[in-house]
Amino acid sequence: MSFAIQGLAVARGIAMGRAVLVASSRVDVAHYFVAEHEVAAEIDRVRRGRNAVVEEIARLQASVAAMSPRETAHELAAMLDVHLMLLNDEELISGVKHWITDRLYNAEWALTTQLEVVARQFDEMEDQYLRERKADLEQITEKVLRAMKGAASPVLPLQRAGRRSSQPLLLEDTVDVPLILVAHDLSPADMLQFKQSVFAGFVTDVGGKTSHTAIVARSLDIPAVVGARLASQLVRQDDWVIIDGDAGVVVVDPSPAMLAEYGFKQRQAELERSRLSRLLHTPALTLDGERVELLANIEMPEDAPGAVQAGAVGVGLFRSEFLFMGRQGRLPDEEEQYLAYRRALEGMQGLPVTIRTVDVGADKPLDAAQADAAHLNPALGLRAIRWSLADPAMFLTQLRAILRAAAHGKAKLLIPMLAHASEIRQTLDLVAQARVELDQRGLAYGPVQVGAMIEIPAAALTLGLFLRYFDFLSLGTNDLIQYTLAIDRSDESVAHLYDPLHPAVLRLVASTIAECRAQGKEVSVCGEMAGDVSMTRLLLGLGLRSFSMHPAQILAVKQEVLRADTGRLAVWAQQVLACEEPGPLLERPAPP
Ligand code: PEP
Ligand code: MG
Repeated sequence: MSFAIQGLAVARGIAMGRAVLVASSRVDVAHYFVAEHEVAAEIDRVRRGRNAVVEEIARLQASVAAMSPRETAHELAAMLDVHLMLLNDEELISGVKHWITDRLYNAEWALTTQLEVVARQFDEMEDQYLRERKADLEQITEKVLRAMKGAASPVLPLQRAGRRSSQPLLLEDTVDVPLILVAHDLSPADMLQFKQSVFAGFVTDVGGKTSHTAIVARSLDIPAVVGARLASQLVRQDDWVIIDGDAGVVVVDPSPAMLAEYGFKQRQAELERSRLSRLLHTPALTLDGERVELLANIEMPEDAPGAVQAGAVGVGLFRSEFLFMGRQGRLPDEEEQYLAYRRALEGMQGLPVTIRTVDVGADKPLDAAQADAAHLNPALGLRAIRWSLADPAMFLTQLRAILRAAAHGKAKLLIPMLAHASEIRQTLDLVAQARVELDQRGLAYGPVQVGAMIEIPAAALTLGLFLRYFDFLSLGTNDLIQYTLAIDRSDESVAHLYDPLHPAVLRLVASTIAECRAQGKEVSVCGEMAGDVSMTRLLLGLGLRSFSMHPAQILAVKQEVLRADTGRLAVWAQQVLACEEPGPLLERPAPP
């Protein structure tokens, strides 16, 4: 039976395919397809992994028999019996074979997929004892996965050739169907590793529109819905699903009529994209001749060439923290960072790259250990520049790497989450110290402009301080909204209150742009507002001339710029600013 789940629209487009359910703890298992001639070897890898665990359990059983007290020995023996029984379970074994043989999943993926299927059955059991055996099942699966690590497949992760999305989807297809990843939650680092993945779309139960997981999904330019509460419980492994990334809807088990309707929408979206591609080389000038700078937000140096191809005239935000995440606490050293920043600069072919210093914490933990650390209020805690200033040696390493990379291109340095004069002075002192250290070591470095993000209301309200100390400013509207409205940007339960058009937010944005312009200081917006076409005219009307966004949004925003008259928009923007609830005003057609 068809049903729909409402979530939050985060990455546009329509995707249709079969659901792949993954528990977040297992997402770092490799997902790739094997060739047909490799199926037998892949099944053999699982068999060997399983046999290794069976042998280990047999060894344990022997030592448990000699243990005392006898009650403990008895309990342990019973647990090991259950583990052996699960390892011999016909459904687990035949299911894994099915995923490998019929779907060509690699061994680890097949095993975790079947784990989700069987675990779901355990969840539905009435008997509490049996329900609790799910934990045993998870334990033995992890053991088999570990045992298989010693017998890794030689096949490299690959991107499936995949159907073109405009081709009709046939329900009887088995191997050649797109796959939609459904998970309770995905960390931004998990999401990033899907960049080269086989998935055509993503759904998560939790997350807000500007959570970093959503931001990364958007940068992958793959349809995604977050905050689709209970999706990972309601959708079953292998169900047919449609994701409507524009409306934030997940349709489960769609009827043929729904498939046809969404197929039509998909083709319309593709037509719109190819129409927009004609604007690639058109200069971003408004009707009244104002030049507008359209920049890209990137997460990794490898994103730079794609940003140039998408029409960006530079990078307005390189979120350097993605170089630091998911490394089990081993942070990149100066050389590794220097090479990464240099790659980004070279990838941009002489265009400027704004490198933001590391912004970890809140919903961007460095790794699982940091995520688990009990911070009461991580978004208000040791995040971004606060984290950097708490570890000056780490921060100096990053600063030296950026300064050295600046010898190879136009690098700009951007500091996140500043609020206090003391933080500003400390930061700038460390930038100066990094230069001195490079001089002492005789290493070359280039000039950089230093900018600050305005993303805490306190910063917007004391802008004079920032204008005095910095060469340029960048409005981080994602956090500015979060901190002005006291709304956790990654909490879907308050997502309806996360309002970029709240008059308080608009006033802070408007006054920041106006004060920068009055002093001739460069200002841009690099939060998600900059890539939201429904905001383009308002931001132009408020005087903004520099927008930094996901590369995939650049041409859609350029289309808005080309149709705009900034003189008229300036008058209209003042009316919007004076409104109690500006939403409806924005929905009505604005002046050109
Ligand atoms: C912002 O806060 O708007 C921003 C661009 O930074 P991030 O989304 O990485 O916090
Ligand atoms: Mg921010």
